[in-house]
Amino acid sequence: MNKIAKKTTSHPQGLSTRAIHGRQKPEPSTGAVIPPIFATSTFVQSSPGVTTGWEYARSQNPTRAAFEASLAELEGGSAGFAFASGLAAEAAILDLLEHGSHIVASDDLYGGTWRLFHRIRAHSANLALTHVDFSDPDAIEAAITPRTALLWVETPSNPLLKLADLSALAALGRKHGILTVADNTFASPAVQRPLQHGFDLVVHSVTKYIGGHSDIIGGAVVVGGDADLQNRVSFIQNATGGILDPFSSFLGLRGIKTLPLRVERHSANALAVAGWLENHPAVERVLYPGLPSHPQHELALRQMQGGGGMVSVFLKATAKQTVKVLESFKIFALAESLGGVESLVGHPVSMSHGSLPAERRAELGITPNLIRLSIGIEDAADLISDLDQALARL
Ligand SMILES: *Cc1c(COP(=O)(O)O)cnc(C)c1O
Repeated sequence: MNKIAKKTTSHPQGLSTRAIHGRQKPEPSTGAVIPPIFATSTFVQSSPGVTTGWEYARSQNPTRAAFEASLAELEGGSAGFAFASGLAAEAAILDLLEHGSHIVASDDLYGGTWRLFHRIRAHSANLALTHVDFSDPDAIEAAITPRTALLWVETPSNPLLKLADLSALAALGRKHGILTVADNTFASPAVQRPLQHGFDLVVHSVTKYIGGHSDIIGGAVVVGGDADLQNRVSFIQNATGGILDPFSSFLGLRGIKTLPLRVERHSANALAVAGWLENHPAVERVLYPGLPSHPQHELALRQMQGGGGMVSVFLKATAKQTVKVLESFKIFALAESLGGVESLVGHPVSMSHGSLPAERRAELGITPNLIRLSIGIEDAADLISDLDQALARL
């Protein structure tokens, strides 16, 4: 063992400690506490094939490896793999499947995931898809066919913040011998850890809570305990090459260190804002898993630590009035994305879910009076006052 390797304690450590120290050690040649940005494409060999363990930076890069190990630690997985974006990570998971496989997926998926499934892999890999309401376990089981190779879930879902029972889904996957994947972008490992419920894989848009500062695009796959699956994802990452660059890996690792702290504030602010909105006369309905009014609040209490930072709101407003509200914010920025320190507001119909066919959006209940808030870590009172002045436009 390296003599400057970190000592470990014997009792299980908490999430905040593990976010900072888990599976990390000082950089061995200098003792630097934080791994540097290894901007190199290759590593010297002392004799042909005799390496330092590092060979070529698509295959492995020390900065990326430190980030991957840290994320795997937080999710409770055996290994992590970082990709150039959340969608690149998702594409790598789809590469695990045989041509012509069938996926059962939640019905209100992130628009980009829907586009990757339906507009790319449906023809390039003959992928077949069935979307069901994942808050209904019977509907999921009924959708499984002999060709089904994957269950793909987002919980909370986007933008309607519906929940799926992670333990029940993992059990269903095991019963039918189907891989289970959870897109944990909305919750982050500070709120829930699907691998601990028995999921095979977790996928992230690192762009969101993990990066946490709206300054990188990145993605990651974390594998549960299956060594064969770990080898296959590792092979795909190297063979298809959609890796995360060292600079973004550095920022991703920096983001993880404050993830539990940030998410605590995101959740507390979101609960305050959601509670306030629920009593506002211009609001038709608030969707937030941390509120007792959420239809699956019980499930939220069972599998989530805090309600997370995302709040969706149906306004008592026409499409035109909703746009006017969206143009009136002073602190909330009208922008795509979520999970950064600053609060954002979005209009799913025209933004995140614009790539969904209109009839599909209507079926799901994604209507023009729906706005989606990514609650940042500012002072809750200031966020509430900004919402108050924007809603006064109605
Ligand atoms: C943003 C997002 C993605 C896609 O990630 P990118 O980093 O933008 O490629 C996937 N799933 C969810 C839930 C997201 O919010």
